[in-house]
Amino acid sequence: MPPAIWYPLHLKKIIHETEFTRRFLFEIETTEHFEYQAGQFLTCDLPIGDKRAQRWRSYSIANWFSGKGEIEFCISYKEKGPASEYFFNKIQVGNVFKCKGPEGTFILPENLDQNVFLICTGTGLAPFRAMIQKLISYKTSFNSTHLIYGTRFLKDVIYKSELIAWPQQVQNFNTHICLSRENNLTELNAPGVYQHSGYVHEVYKSIFQTKHVDTTKSIFLICGWNAMIDEAVLHLLSDLKIPREKIRFELYG
Ligand SMILES: Cc1cc2nc3c(=O)[nH]c(=O)nc-3n(C[C@H](O)[C@H](O)[C@H](O)COP(=O)(O)OP(=O)(O)OC[C@H]3O[C@@H](n4cnc5c(N)ncnc54)[C@H](O)[C@@H]3O)c2cc1C
Repeated sequence: MPPAIWYPLHLKKIIHETEFTRRFLFEIETTEHFEYQAGQFLTCDLPIGDKRAQRWRSYSIANWFSGKGEIEFCISYKEKGPASEYFFNKIQVGNVFKCKGPEGTFILPENLDQNVFLICTGTGLAPFRAMIQKLISYKTSFNSTHLIYGTRFLKDVIYKSELIAWPQQVQNFNTHICLSRENNLTELNAPGVYQHSGYVHEVYKSIFQTKHVDTTKSIFLICGWNAMIDEAVLHLLSDLKIPREKIRFELYG
């Protein structure tokens, strides 16, 4: 394998998306040919330790390839996590660190004749945002796309205006927002946008069963942390009898 190329990432802007989530907008400084597929991630060498294993953290690229060297990460805060402390309490606009990649096979299928379920919690939405931007930019769509996004409260919802707009920008697209701890569900009142109380699992199971979705033409992409992914894979395999090869996931940790 050829040695990895490390690219400088130059921080241009920080957006305080929610209380515990921030968006970091970088410019990748490279004269090399740098390209990526929607859904891939970069591994960053952060100034948070002496040893390589202490310093490296991976982040999904949250924006579709623009050709202008723009890279966005959407990062949630984990208390006392070294990378979290760096991104939330230290990094400043103008700072630079190195990253390598892109890596990963968590990408959209090429065959559009499919029902695509995009299931995520928290910043697991990041790779799906890049994928959806790609669909919008190519003016293309699948038979159906169900984005099922989970978080705790309405105030924690990231990319809220985009979640609401996507059903109007991509054909046959629905956004499902699942709020596990919100007592008052306010109507978002937008076509193709549905709010649910509870976890993501009930939603994809219900869509799959009530709409009699064809298993042979369906694919499930899941992104987030291990507890949610383990549970989703179990439901898909044992309750919905989805073949393993139809399930892809990106595990954040
Ligand atoms: C391929 C890949 C892509 C990733 N993309 C993103 C991304 O787009 N956005 C993002 O916020 N993170 C992403 N992560 C996670 C990220 O790499 C770090 O693990 C995270 O920022 C925590 O680092 P830390 O040093 O603050 O905490 P650490 O002390 O390194 O965290 C230790 C462990 O805690 C768990 N953990 C960390 N954060 C959370 C959380 N919010 N909820 C539940 N468990 C958690 C993980 O198991 C992690 O390994 C990704 C990870 C991988 C492998």
